[in-house]
Amino acid sequence: MLFEISEKMIRVLKAFTEPRIATKDIVKEPAHKSPIFRGRHEIKWDVCIGCDACNKICPVDAIKMKPLPLKKPNKVPEVNLAICIFCGLCEDVCPTKPKAIKLSGGDIEMITEGTPEALENFWVRVEIPEEWIEKKKKEEEEKARKKAEMMAKKKAEAEAKKKAQASKAQNESKKSAPAQKGDEK
Ligand code: SF4
Ligand code: SF4
Repeated sequence: MLFEISEKMIRVLKAFTEPRIATKDIVKEPAHKSPIFRGRHEIKWDVCIGCDACNKICPVDAIKMKPLPLKKPNKVPEVNLAICIFCGLCEDVCPTKPKAIKLSGGDIEMITEGTPEALENFWVRVEIPEEWIEKKKKEEEEKARKKAEMMAKKKAEAEAKKKAQASKAQNESKKSAPAQKGDEK
């Protein structure tokens, strides 16, 4: 019993006096970087079409879609690097050219204290300027107005065509009516 207590005390003392080896190594040595490491995500929100493909393909649910007050894109991805396994599937599946989501190279510091605040730093967030949103909204409104105008024009043209056909048919039946009467005499 006494032996166990003293052994524990020595271990506790050691923990206080000797730095933890793993931490010491990571801080001293540059982190090992895989030759296939492609870096952290870069998100081009002005290219994204909000198709959701990156979110759907992510095998670990590291992507969350941020809603936007627009028709297209109505959402853009944000990535939680604390969950991400850097498989690159999100980039591979992205249909835009250039890619709206891309593992763009560069180092990434993945050492953290593990506090909620520190983990928040692992999010690749998308901050879109309000002016851009307003500009896109106006573009969408203008597009919708032009579309409505075009539809109304097409509808008016179709109705005019229908009327013209009806009046032509009426005229033709009037012309053929006296001829039929003559034939009867
Ligand atoms: S790299 Fe892979 S794990 Fe990371 S966000 Fe993209 S699809 Fe998900
Ligand atoms: S980043 Fe690419 S795959 Fe993801 S929603 Fe945007 S366009 Fe679609």
